[in-house]
Amino acid sequence: MTNLQFLLKLKMFYIIVSIIFIVNIVIAQQIETSKNDTPRNRVPAKGFAVHSHEDQFHSYEFTRHAVGDYDVQIEILYAGICHSDLHAVRDEQKNFGIHANYPMVPGHEIAGRVVKSGKNVTKFKIGDFAGVGCMVNACGKCGSCSAGKEQFCEKGTVFTYSSIDHYHEHEITMGGYSNNIVVAENFAINIPKNADLKKTAPLLCAGITTWSPIKFSKVKTGDKVGVAGYGGVGHMAVQYLVALGTEVTVFDTSEEKRNDAKRMGVKRYVNIRHPQELENLNNTMDFIITTIPADYDPLIYVRMLKIGGEIAVVGLPPNSNINISKLPLGAAYRKIYGSLIGGIKETQEMLDYSVANNIYPEVEVIKAESSEIDKAYQNLANGKMKFRYVIDMSTLK
Ligand code: NDP
Ligand code: ZN
Repeated sequence: MTNLQFLLKLKMFYIIVSIIFIVNIVIAQQIETSKNDTPRNRVPAKGFAVHSHEDQFHSYEFTRHAVGDYDVQIEILYAGICHSDLHAVRDEQKNFGIHANYPMVPGHEIAGRVVKSGKNVTKFKIGDFAGVGCMVNACGKCGSCSAGKEQFCEKGTVFTYSSIDHYHEHEITMGGYSNNIVVAENFAINIPKNADLKKTAPLLCAGITTWSPIKFSKVKTGDKVGVAGYGGVGHMAVQYLVALGTEVTVFDTSEEKRNDAKRMGVKRYVNIRHPQELENLNNTMDFIITTIPADYDPLIYVRMLKIGGEIAVVGLPPNSNINISKLPLGAAYRKIYGSLIGGIKETQEMLDYSVANNIYPEVEVIKAESSEIDKAYQNLANGKMKFRYVIDMSTLK
């Protein structure tokens, strides 16, 4: 054997030993996690659930998986109500291949305080404020996770509620309309001490959902931009876009929010029920974000783009179809793309930026009572809510 062959063999030997070592550690961790998750260690929780797509909210007691070595337990102080919660409760996401699991405890805009942490947690200490958005776990290693897009994990993202948690015995996840949550530390977001906590909760979904495409499209100062749908998600887009120094046009269905738009620095408010207000807008915009939760014709907005302009679709209307035969003319040399929340790293960036620049949603705080949540859902469905309801979970009885 030559010296070179000997060295190569030695190298191979070291590589194999290292692989065996790493695999053993991973298996040991998994055994440790499942050993830990005994009925005695499970975390009791209570909150509000619906039991079918027609149900109203009821008090609901359940347990969460035990706090693993890399997990934190968060006492939930505030939980935002997103329109996606309404879609999910009503099982309106079948078009996207998402099926509701009942009993369902919704809520993916969560802000609270860390009350327990696993022995290997480094990101948080007891008493820190922490937030959870739409995801609670992903593999962390696949192409999407490595690219900071854990919401598209190739092994399957675990979403915050109504999702199968394949890291914990395939149990169904339960969301933030509850008194606590247990989550992998990598999926909890640090909330600075000076944050206004009740307004921080909706940043975990409404904030990142608009921040991410604004960054993706590289929107810049001086751009002419549009925000279609001026509710919880839309009014966050408006605030980031105004802060960026763009010229913002808002499209909504009501007159009530015209003054709010002006107050937030919007240049033009278009009530789409007044067709004359839609005139002369074609070929004028660099970027548009549509957050509309009901059926509409996206080509109306695509036509408003300049050549090369981009439209980010984030609203999730239950029954919408784009007729692609209209695209060659209607969307020629314009780009249309979808966007789903944002990754963990960019969520942290969004949150730090928002708190530092005092950019928050406008919220109406309600008590943690099922009748209050039912009323909020009715208002949300009937267009009677302005921007965002947030449940004060500390009032839970
Ligand atoms: P809201 O109900 O708070 O806001 C929606 C707004 O759109 C309301 O102001 C509503 O007006 C307005 N609107 C309704 N129809 C039209 C229309 N035809 N043209 C213009 N405006 C219209 O919902 P959210 O902001 O919480 O959520 C918006 C959508 O975004 C939902 O479908 C939600 O599921 C989705 N979403 C998607 C995410 C993603 O990652 N892609 C993340 C979060 C949410 P009115 O009140 O008068 O009806
Ligand atoms: Zn949401």
